Amino acid sequence: MSIPITDISEPDVSCSNCQACCCRLEVMIITDTGVPQKHIAVDEWGAETMLRLDDGWCSALDRDTMMCSIYEVRPWICREFEMGSYECREERTVTA
Ligand code: SF4
Ligand code: SF4
Repeated sequence: MSIPITDISEPDVSCSNCQACCCRLEVMIITDTGVPQKHIAVDEWGAETMLRLDDGWCSALDRDTMMCSIYEVRPWICREFEMGSYECREERTVTA
């Protein structure tokens, strides 16, 4: 009999039951992954971040699905942000 592998310490942490909490954080663009220009904000020093809308969410977030609409070209920081990590759980707590 095979037993499914689950994280019993954090059984409820999943992007599918999260309202994309981490997509309200500031996301710096430090490498060119192909993010469309319309989703990029440039500050007075020339630094690039993901554009955030008035409600704080990243402009690349699909509001119908609450999924990333540019997943294949999302910034490096978004790729490194790990589901279930300390930062993830912190953000879920803050936004809950
Ligand atoms: S990585 Fe964490 S905070 Fe981000 S959407 Fe997934 S569960 Fe939510
Ligand atoms: S680029 Fe995608 S994964 Fe990154 S913050 Fe925006 S919507 Fe979230």
